[in-house]
Amino acid sequence: MSCELCPRHCAVDRSVSPGFCGCSDTMRIARIGLHRYEEPCISGIGGSGAVFFSGCNLRCVFCQNKVLQTGKLGQDFSPEALADALLELQRIGAENINLVTPTPHTNGICRALDLAKSNGLSLPIVYNTNGYLSVDTVDKLSNYVDIWLPDFKYHDQRLADRFSSAPRYFETALAAIGRMLEHGGQLVLDETGRAKKGVLIRHLVLPGCVFDTRDVLSAIADHFGTDTYLSLMHQFTPQPDGKAPLNRRLTKREYDSAVEACLSLGFTRVYIQEEQSATFAYTPDFSDEVNVQA
Ligand code: SF4
Repeated sequence: MSCELCPRHCAVDRSVSPGFCGCSDTMRIARIGLHRYEEPCISGIGGSGAVFFSGCNLRCVFCQNKVLQTGKLGQDFSPEALADALLELQRIGAENINLVTPTPHTNGICRALDLAKSNGLSLPIVYNTNGYLSVDTVDKLSNYVDIWLPDFKYHDQRLADRFSSAPRYFETALAAIGRMLEHGGQLVLDETGRAKKGVLIRHLVLPGCVFDTRDVLSAIADHFGTDTYLSLMHQFTPQPDGKAPLNRRLTKREYDSAVEACLSLGFTRVYIQEEQSATFAYTPDFSDEVNVQA
């Protein structure tokens, strides 16, 4: 079957050779476990039941999970094995199932969720994505996903090319997130503050690029309204081989300026991150052998 799951349109048969994302037609997973460093409405008290898929359709030069980009790290999972792991996450107290960088594995994920739900999985399903997916893929997932957690990384295509090798990033993310909102609506929290359904948009503020943050936020306000829930992320961490402007941390002034842009546009539902989050300590450990971690 020819893969068209994302805007790369590789049109390859992944049972024969991988596409740009590095993924074959078998799901490869590098970590499954409770994750406590998401937004409070996602992590809750018990932790989010995160499944980190190996492989990615972007090549972000600043990615904190870069070891996963090529799709080689981790262990192959059948839909049956993933369904069992999701049920185990529910058993150990996960607040939700958090599918991280899932797009290349959409078909296997849908099969796993069908199996797990028929065996009692009742947790909300979080689709934690880089925002670079097609509207058709969003439609395909609409009966499976409760909480959409997309990045909206760039407005300026020059940044998308330079930092993520992502043609037409802005138009693609805008269309995909628009469709997520059509399916799920704005984020809804329960009485304890846990996310139940809807859309929470993440934006990572990059050093030297606050001008683009302002443009992304303006676009969100114009297209989706200022009722939209945002997570304004401060956790950019320079890589050892990072080049200017990504060879330094974000300054307090830059992050404050991004927060000010949110507030002056009229957003009120904004998660703000502490400066201390800009550290590799928040990067999970990945390994070749994958067991469900409490
Ligand atoms: S999911 Fe992978 S193989 Fe499929 S179109 Fe996207 S990058 Fe290409």
